[in-house]
Amino acid sequence: MSGIYIHIPFCPQKCIYCDFYSVRMSESLAGEYFAALGKEAEFRMAGYFPSNEHAGLPGAACSGTNDSKATDNEGYPQTIYFGGGTPSCIGIGHYERFLGKLKKITCLDHVKEFTFEANPDDITEDYAKGLRKIGAGRISMGVQSFIDHDLKWMNRRHSSEQACSAYRILRKAGFANISLDLIFGYSGLSMEKWKYDLEMLVRLGPEHVSAYQMSTEPGSMLASLIRKGRYAELADEECERQYAYMQEFLKEAGYVQYEISNFAKPGYEAVHNSSYWNSEKYLGLGPGAHSYDGKSVREWNTPDIGFYIGSLLDGKSCMAENDHGIAHGRRPCAEAKAFRTEREILSEKDMFNEHIMVGLRKSSGIRIKDLQSAFPAFFPRFENTAARLAGKGDIVEENGTIRIPHSKFFISDSIIAELFAD
Ligand code: SF4
Repeated sequence: MSGIYIHIPFCPQKCIYCDFYSVRMSESLAGEYFAALGKEAEFRMAGYFPSNEHAGLPGAACSGTNDSKATDNEGYPQTIYFGGGTPSCIGIGHYERFLGKLKKITCLDHVKEFTFEANPDDITEDYAKGLRKIGAGRISMGVQSFIDHDLKWMNRRHSSEQACSAYRILRKAGFANISLDLIFGYSGLSMEKWKYDLEMLVRLGPEHVSAYQMSTEPGSMLASLIRKGRYAELADEECERQYAYMQEFLKEAGYVQYEISNFAKPGYEAVHNSSYWNSEKYLGLGPGAHSYDGKSVREWNTPDIGFYIGSLLDGKSCMAENDHGIAHGRRPCAEAKAFRTEREILSEKDMFNEHIMVGLRKSSGIRIKDLQSAFPAFFPRFENTAARLAGKGDIVEENGTIRIPHSKFFISDSIIAELFAD
């Protein structure tokens, strides 16, 4: 299902492992930022989703009209995802106004999943009520650990108790679909501590769990600690042990692993994220956000909030590089400082490799027939390699699909790389 991702690049403080683009937040900056987001949505929506203007609904919400296009969910956004950064460090009023604007641009009546990323220490009763009011139905909360010492080391803003209390507040506010994030695979996380994290998580009982191995990103504080000899990564074998333990533990607790890093109670698989793994189109708004047309075009915005706001609000925005965009009334990109979206046209080989990469992350894998008909030129080599890997038990072929067994998910990167076309 195709959807809209809205990037909120504000973080009150930087986590030790993170090198995502983010800046410190201020109310005035947030005001300008949301105004710029509204402009970008106006400029780019038509390239991805039918606009109300095209549906004959200028400036009107789609619900309650008799327009046939407005009742056809094909083509309209079906998911909304506010991610970051830290969306929850921004007041609800900004989201309310922005969503009001978005509704005037395209029809949001067909949205089936509306996810909002939150940090535990931002969640108050009022904030949770506000989230319900703007229509959020799914919360993704970055807990990362239930051990205060480890949270402090990660430079997270919250404590274990705050995470539990935020969870209870969200439940009380009526959220019936909550996802919690955990991190494993760092030095200092013993197996005993990891078991404790997982037990605490299961005791809370979220519908969805995302668990990521801590990795050393080049621009992060962690990378600098390593350079200074103050941190050493956890051995791969130990990370694998923690991953395998988690798989078994969550399975026992009733969670189904449907992707390398994601587990859900039946029926609660993330819809928005699934569009990434199913190579479906999505529009990303905000600096650093990526978009994909579902075919061969990837686009992304420069991760620079100053440039983003300045260029979008000074009236010089353009989409000359984007042949999806309907550039009515916009100035050419040749004018200095104009907002532009970078784009890449994927070759056949790129598309094949992407299809393999995202498809094999899923427990359900890839349909062999689909691959064969979409990429006949690359299929023979793929088939040979797949047969060899199947002989080693690295992949499984059954019922017309090819997938990586859960027991090999930890080494999926190397398996997937072998299947790439070169
Ligand atoms: S809250 Fe998220 S985006 Fe912000 S610094 Fe931490 S990990 Fe990075």
